[in-house]
Amino acid sequence: MTLPAPGAAGLADALALIADVPDFPEPGILFKDITPLLADHAALAAVVAALAAPGRDETGEPVVDKVLGMESRGFILGAPVALALGVGFVPVRKAGKLPRATYAVSYALEYGEATLEVHQDALAPGDRVLLVDDVLATGGTARATIDLVEQCGAHVHAVAMLMELGFLPGRHEIGTVPLTTLMTV
Ligand code: AMP
Repeated sequence: MTLPAPGAAGLADALALIADVPDFPEPGILFKDITPLLADHAALAAVVAALAAPGRDETGEPVVDKVLGMESRGFILGAPVALALGVGFVPVRKAGKLPRATYAVSYALEYGEATLEVHQDALAPGDRVLLVDDVLATGGTARATIDLVEQCGAHVHAVAMLMELGFLPGRHEIGTVPLTTLMTV
């Protein structure tokens, strides 16, 4: 796949396509809808290139072995990031969706608990992994995914997020793992 090398203006134009949807899926939540961005080829290409950047060294060479995407918008963004880096893609799924032996991590939500899973053979010990998702909110999803990677004996090289909700503590949840976010709201 060939992607253009967009400049900063291209990325800003892309991020401007994200739509705010008040009170979705419940009152008080300002939902960040990335579907207008996904529907625009130039915007999608700019965002994919920017999210892939933390998986490269200063010469532009890929330095990760796998890209992991978290269900479900992490699949949409993560798979083309993996192609851009020339590596494979691994889905991290909600409980009960993966058909073979998995590792699982449960984490607290505002109400209740969620569980994420990854196939036990999806990563080799020592693999360097780039995590990709759309929104870093409380950081629970990212933290659980980092824990899953560590259960596999692999290493999280970096986390790449389209957007960070700066009023929530997500950044602190992921600790010392390098974090790239394309915008903070
Ligand atoms: P968290 O675990 O709290 O960091 O939440 C991250 C996950 O929830 C991501 O996979 C996002 O897709 C989704 N998410 C959280 N807050 C929002 C929001 N305001 N708009 C859209 N998606 C969100």
